[in-house]
Amino acid sequence: MKYKRILLKLSGEALMGSRQYGIDPERLSEYARDIKEITDLGVEVAIVIGGGNIFRGVAGAMNGMDRVQGDHMGMLATVINGLALQNALEDQDVKTRLQTAIKINEVAEPFIRRKAMSHLNKGRVVIFGGGTGNPYFTTDSAAVLRAIEIEADVILKGTRVDGIYDKDPEKDLNAIKFDHITFAEVLKKGLKVMDTTAFTLSQENNLPIIVFDMNKKGNLLKVVSGENIGTKVNL
Ligand code: UDP
Repeated sequence: MKYKRILLKLSGEALMGSRQYGIDPERLSEYARDIKEITDLGVEVAIVIGGGNIFRGVAGAMNGMDRVQGDHMGMLATVINGLALQNALEDQDVKTRLQTAIKINEVAEPFIRRKAMSHLNKGRVVIFGGGTGNPYFTTDSAAVLRAIEIEADVILKGTRVDGIYDKDPEKDLNAIKFDHITFAEVLKKGLKVMDTTAFTLSQENNLPIIVFDMNKKGNLLKVVSGENIGTKVNL
């Protein structure tokens, strides 16, 4: 395997499958099977999960809600998704721990870096819920932050698109995909990979990001074994 320890970022929306809201159990178990495949090969897996399938603070604020209140709801949404993913992984006999940035002690462990590292060393999948624990941040920022903290080799951003394009491939048939691109080029071309805070944090810490299509069975294994699918962003 090319990567020994990875941080997988899954958006909340990815969990919806073809639904408009919430969690598609079928999609969830497909993800769990893909994750099991790589843990069985000895890859250490940490996961940050989003909450956009349930609630986003920005959307709440647009409807007149207090932004911070909305962000708290969004963070709790990520914990709901984390619990669902934990359940799906355990159905596949994968050992897991859920750690949250906001303490919910009856439900999950609090985030403790040393404990997270120790779980990973023992082959447990660690799911990080609650984002960074702060409003005005995103789970992309949480993904980069946790990846740096746990010394992951790479961030794998699983999306429904198979990489980074020069234009939106869902809108423009002539869009061209990059196999590889530098952080500087992404910024220069104004391409959207992650929000700016998350992206800059990754760049400053020289943490590569691979964007790939997580909805194609077996792709996660291909990426982890170093196959050139998706788009890799590095220095
Ligand atoms: N959120 C937050 N702080 C964080 C991470 C998330 O306040 O560190 C809130 C924010 O309201 C966000 C929501 O949780 O809209 C869900 O996260 P995100 O939008 O990143 O989820 P995704 O787009 O990946 O599904």
